[in-house]
Amino acid sequence: MHTQLASVLRSSSRTVGTLRWPPTSQFNSARTFSTTQHRDATWGFIGLGQMGYNMAKNLRAKIPASDTLIIRDVNEAAAERFVTEAEDTARSSGAGADEYRVEIATTAREIAEKSIVVISSLPEPQHVTDVFHSILKPGKLPVLEQERLFIDTSTVDPVTSKEIANAIHTTQAGRFVDAPVSGGVVGAQAGTLSFMFGASTPTGDSGELLDRIKGVLSLMGKRMWHLGEPGSGVSGKLANNYILAINNIATAEAMNLGVRWGLDPKALADMINSSTGRCWPSEVNNPVPGVVETAPASRDYKGGFGVALMHKDLRLALTAADKSGTPLVLGTHAREVYDAVEAAHRGKDFSVVYQWLQEKSS
Ligand code: NAD
Repeated sequence: MHTQLASVLRSSSRTVGTLRWPPTSQFNSARTFSTTQHRDATWGFIGLGQMGYNMAKNLRAKIPASDTLIIRDVNEAAAERFVTEAEDTARSSGAGADEYRVEIATTAREIAEKSIVVISSLPEPQHVTDVFHSILKPGKLPVLEQERLFIDTSTVDPVTSKEIANAIHTTQAGRFVDAPVSGGVVGAQAGTLSFMFGASTPTGDSGELLDRIKGVLSLMGKRMWHLGEPGSGVSGKLANNYILAINNIATAEAMNLGVRWGLDPKALADMINSSTGRCWPSEVNNPVPGVVETAPASRDYKGGFGVALMHKDLRLALTAADKSGTPLVLGTHAREVYDAVEAAHRGKDFSVVYQWLQEKSS
């Protein structure tokens, strides 16, 4: 049955499978949002990359069995892999019930037409704009039994998010929420992400919408902050990651300085982490190999938060700051550092700034 199912799923551009995934009792866990989400709902997920794939997987595992998940990625292999993996899991569990549906869509519009909740996880502002443009351009979306919720989890800039929110709201296509994440691929896999989100609430709403949004986000994460109107989620994310970008460089510079002065790096880190220099890069993601065994620096800077992503977030913060006439004096220098570090150490964790500094030291 499952082989047949896989061939059906692959032979059609828009097909429905009946998959039990994963085959554990977690399906039966209590659903905090069950009172606000309709039965047999259809959910959509756009962008099955490093983050989205794992978030969609958690979503499918936690939504009611009778609900349908429709997925889409321009990389069709990602959507097919999603279905195949679901099928393999179902087969190995011996499950075969007519439930846990996964459908592959050919367009984002098709997902939006059917889904009560549409989640996206896309690389850059331009991708997000293109996807929402393709959703809205063909005209009015059909009215569903509940207001459609668009939750964009991509890290973009506040101007992009506000423009999309405005387009969604003025065309009455649904409600837009910018909800970027932190927690990385590990958090996406474990379903422990943190979300910072921006959403406007309708007049007369006494918290139902925010509860509904939090209910959806809790299927993929553990912590969430409502920071205000649309655009405020990505503003919060960029402000946080601006600090991270600077702290990472400052920690790498200070550690390099201490080591070159002859200090033991572990002793130096211990002292900093009990003093005023303490920060996430010094304590959790220390850039010196061996100081924190679990940090990427201790495994040749593999895994972790890629230098290209840090570079991207800093670029977005600088552009957004510029548009609002806000000076970011350290940011310009930091961007030059990440330009150079990305060119020299592409694919490595952003703490590789330390190694780059060592290479530059005479
Ligand atoms: P990714 O590049 O791995 O995944 C993006 C996916 O979107 C790809 O599979 C791509 O094919 C797909 N895509 C691109 N254009 C599309 C379109 N028009 N329609 C459908 N699919 C399309 O990126 P990622 O690492 O998963 O990150 C996603 C977002 O989350 C980014 O904005 C990133 O900054 C943010 N983020 C990533 C991390 C991380 O550790 N990877 C952490 C926090 C936040």
